[in-house]
Amino acid sequence: MADAARLGAIDTVMHEDRLFPPSAEFSAKARIPSLADYEALWNEVAADPVAFWEKVGREELHWFEPFTETLRWDEPQSQPQVAEWFVGGKTNASYNCLDKHIAEGNGDRIALLWEGEPGDTRRISYVQLHKHVCKFANALKSLGIQKGDRVSIYMPMVPELVIAMLGCARIGAVHSVIFGGFSAEAIADRNNDAGAVAIITADAAWRRGKVLPLKQTVDEALKKSPTVKHCIVLDRVNEAVHWTPGRDYWWRELTRNASDDCPAEPMDSEAPLFILYTSGSTGKPKGILHTTAGYTLWSKKTFEWVFDHREGDVYWCTADCGWITGHSYVTYGPLAAGATCVLYEGAPDYPDKDRFWEIIDKYNVTLFYTAPTAIRAFIKWGDDYVDKHDLSSLRVLGSVGEGINPEAWMWYHRKIGGERCPIVDTWWQTETGGIMMSPLPGAIATKPGSCTKPLPGVIPKIIDEVGDECGPDQGGMLTIAHPWPGMLRGIWNDPERYQEVYWSKVPGKYLAGDNARCDKDGYYWIMGRIDDVLNVSGHRLSTIEIESALVSHPAVAEAAAVGRPHELKGEAVAVFVTLKNAPPSDELRDELKKHVRKEIGALAQPDDIRFTNTLPKTRSGKIMRRLLRDIAAGKEAVGDTSTLEDYSVLASLRQDEE
Ligand code: ATP
Ligand code: MG
Repeated sequence: MADAARLGAIDTVMHEDRLFPPSAEFSAKARIPSLADYEALWNEVAADPVAFWEKVGREELHWFEPFTETLRWDEPQSQPQVAEWFVGGKTNASYNCLDKHIAEGNGDRIALLWEGEPGDTRRISYVQLHKHVCKFANALKSLGIQKGDRVSIYMPMVPELVIAMLGCARIGAVHSVIFGGFSAEAIADRNNDAGAVAIITADAAWRRGKVLPLKQTVDEALKKSPTVKHCIVLDRVNEAVHWTPGRDYWWRELTRNASDDCPAEPMDSEAPLFILYTSGSTGKPKGILHTTAGYTLWSKKTFEWVFDHREGDVYWCTADCGWITGHSYVTYGPLAAGATCVLYEGAPDYPDKDRFWEIIDKYNVTLFYTAPTAIRAFIKWGDDYVDKHDLSSLRVLGSVGEGINPEAWMWYHRKIGGERCPIVDTWWQTETGGIMMSPLPGAIATKPGSCTKPLPGVIPKIIDEVGDECGPDQGGMLTIAHPWPGMLRGIWNDPERYQEVYWSKVPGKYLAGDNARCDKDGYYWIMGRIDDVLNVSGHRLSTIEIESALVSHPAVAEAAAVGRPHELKGEAVAVFVTLKNAPPSDELRDELKKHVRKEIGALAQPDDIRFTNTLPKTRSGKIMRRLLRDIAAGKEAVGDTSTLEDYSVLASLRQDEE
């Protein structure tokens, strides 16, 4: 440990030895059936990434014009550093998600199995989805929207959200999806940053049986969005809305007479596909830019690898399209792979806390992908909700968005997976376009809390503060050493920030902004955000290890650990804890301190434990530790709070303090 501290590495205090190999039966049928196969593939790509991606790019995407150069990357001098993939080629993301399947004779396959929150349902085949997308693309054209124009999308999780994304992609307009819970202010900021010419919305959305007035929020936002000339409104809830003639159009009317023939626009490989603002966990959201060919290929390939997707699978990703997971693993990846996808509009606890399990049961979902925040809520709600339903159709379970605490992982494994389904804990970011590290379910034995190994084409390097590569079990900054097709191409409108955030600290390597360690078996463990490291008496500690130790106590539902200034130690460990059912008490506080000491050692023992009803989270469900850090230090929470889910949480946390 002392050695690690001297090198500027992060101490590892958590030890997790449980290992869960895939069953022989699962592996026998898997795309990548063994560790040796995975290693061979990984090595093949690492030895010559250009040759590999050239072959896969040609085979798996449809090209209007073939590319002439697989990768252009003038490492490391160019400022800012941007990789270009499949240069000279022309393709279209919407074509790859729709027309390609129809051309291959799979048009009648179901693309979307949609379930509305009130219980209405729709089944949409690839042929039907293609028609909807073409009509909508023609409607966009009828408003004069062109290739390269930016279009904001602010909608509930209805099929038209996917249709809108693919409709933009079809004509080469660049979409910017804004999560349907954001304020008028946040929408206006994004409209203005992107220079959007149009916005697509709905009259309203259903949320826990209540009506959220989306159009009204958009009206408010458009007062401050001078670039937006058109507003297309889907009639979802039948709410009365204000109307600005000449600017507002009903979706229904605009598409009614539009032709369902709209050939996909051949787009340069590097033409922008979308802009997406990050979750804002660590600061002001960044408008991440992804382009056409590399992103489409990466989302498709990683979807197939990680979920071991096969014909006949029913796949459900619970993410909202307002986040990157909803782009890569609700829309582009699964549709490019020709998957049948469940799309659900509403909340997990409406009308009751078993809605997810009911949906899995009803549609015989085989591949299920959700977030740790949801899993922790399910645990808190209790097993009875799960027990009411037959979940035996499931074969792979996924997790994304935050680290999953090992005890939450174990619950997911036992209770949802019936100890039969591999769990794919997928580490990636808005910036990476798709999954970077994850178990391949037939090949890699899992360890609870580890995202295991890098996907083929991903070369992680863990770097300490001095710039050297860390050894086994030494925590440091996670970087990626070689470009991959799905990587971001920039921050919209802000090349300096792009250079500064991702490329300035470790030259020539992509800086992820997370810390990680690699254990002696080559398994990676994400240790939390670089900015969130705690520095206690010269030891650098990771947030997630302390939090996982707390969550392993039966009374604890969720925990967030932050450092607060301390005269002697530099920083003291402060934790915020939500409880399952137990009432808060001083005894429990002492017990939790002892528990952490026992699990991971005296160094990590919290000085302060604060019980709270909720933690501040982004709207995508991630704990916002930077706000808690301010509160623990007794300061006003400063910095960007535009993506905070519930503003009252901050006030109540401050009250708890008094
Ligand atoms: P911002 O960059 O604006 O602060 P954000 O990083 O939360 O927001 P996203 O791109 O949605 O925005 O999230 C990516 C981050 O989520 C990762 O950098 C990592 O910290 C965390 N994350 C995602 N998946 C995992 C995982 N499986 N294990 C651990 N952490 C994860
Ligand atoms: Mg981030």
